[in-house]
Amino acid sequence: MSRVLIIGAGGVATVTVKKCARLPEHFDEIYLASRTVSKCEALQQEVGEDRVKGVFAVDADNADEVEALINQVKPDLVVNLALPYQDLPIMDACLATQTDYLDTANYEPKDEAKFEYSWQWAYQERFKEKGIMALLGSGFDPGVTNVYTAYAAKHYFDEIHYLDIVDCNGGDHGQAFATNFNPEINIREITQRGRFWENGEWKETDPLSVREDLHYQNIGERASYLMFHEELESLVKHFPTLKRARFWMTFGDAYLNHLRVLEGIGMTSIEPVEFQGQQIVPLEFLKAVLPNPGSLAEGYTGMTCIGTYITGVKDGKEKTIFIYNNCDHAVCNEEVGAQAVSYTTGVPAMIGAALMLNGTWKKSGVWNMEQFDPDPFMDMLNQHGLPWQVLECDQSPFAK
Ligand code: NDP
Repeated sequence: MSRVLIIGAGGVATVTVKKCARLPEHFDEIYLASRTVSKCEALQQEVGEDRVKGVFAVDADNADEVEALINQVKPDLVVNLALPYQDLPIMDACLATQTDYLDTANYEPKDEAKFEYSWQWAYQERFKEKGIMALLGSGFDPGVTNVYTAYAAKHYFDEIHYLDIVDCNGGDHGQAFATNFNPEINIREITQRGRFWENGEWKETDPLSVREDLHYQNIGERASYLMFHEELESLVKHFPTLKRARFWMTFGDAYLNHLRVLEGIGMTSIEPVEFQGQQIVPLEFLKAVLPNPGSLAEGYTGMTCIGTYITGVKDGKEKTIFIYNNCDHAVCNEEVGAQAVSYTTGVPAMIGAALMLNGTWKKSGVWNMEQFDPDPFMDMLNQHGLPWQVLECDQSPFAK
């Protein structure tokens, strides 16, 4: 029997809960906890009490509270779909209760937008000693992009040399400005300095200052901007043959104009300011006035295209492949009442959880996605709504 405790009840968790609920062969019992319990109750009502057996309020910033909840529910696995700030307290609670752990985004301190795995990798020995497992970054990017890279390295190349991860949202939600996942986390990420790996070292760029116009399957050409993304850190560690690794994301002019104005007037800052006698963080206030990403699904048209270009050598010959998925916002809304960005994250979280629970991906310690056999994950992507394609390219769209 398998019992999963999902923490968080936002856009991504909504998809994961609904997907898990349809797979009793992997998830016998689902429990759901979040800061605002009414969101858990609404999801339980929608999915059915026979599948979501219990809901709880929890402040996951508080490891003791999470530990008490785990002791009450006694899950085999905790799936963390709250925010990156909660990763460490939830991992601490998993250590204390000897429970497996999965998340979709690496830890970030709340007062500093700093993206690196060091904090979570530091749990490696303690997780090993307790005989429990943590799977880090089981979303799409990170997540599926790591698995695509491992799949390419296993089946298509003797050695991989150049990696370019591309993330295009070609959809239209009709709002003047909105983010597709938690606005606070998203804006912290894209306003950072760009960073990429080249010839054994990290190189930095000004935020969104490097642009390539790239063609995306079933979408067309889109302006794509170089930025840092967390999977680059683990991929260059686990594939040391990589000479260069970069990440690109598309942004429209209207989006960038809004972002520049908001940055220019200080609304994206995470430094607290005094307002009417209390301290507020401008970015947290901005989140409160922006559309809730979960509410964008209705009427969202178009699709995403996320994938990895990999250039390497096979039998002495250089070649490039592109592995990608297209995901249609309206189709996701029809299936689970969510837009494609929540869907492309929520489904891989379900798949990672299923593979851990059935023992296919299982070893003590703290692991990134590319450290496991990619094949069972790739099979499940095809079965559960995120089918992928492999394109053999005549040449890479990127200069060396
Ligand atoms: P949302 O903001 O929609 O949901 C976050 C949920 O976490 C909310 O239910 C929120 O509760 C809850 N939460 C926040 N703080 C706490 C806390 N202290 N204790 C308990 N619950 C808390 O975010 P998303 O669903 O869009 O994103 C979820 C995660 O997925 C994020 O970590 C994000 O970075 C990650 N992500 C990963 C992607 C990938 O491809 N790997 C892509 C997109 C997202 P409340 O309702 O009270 O605010």
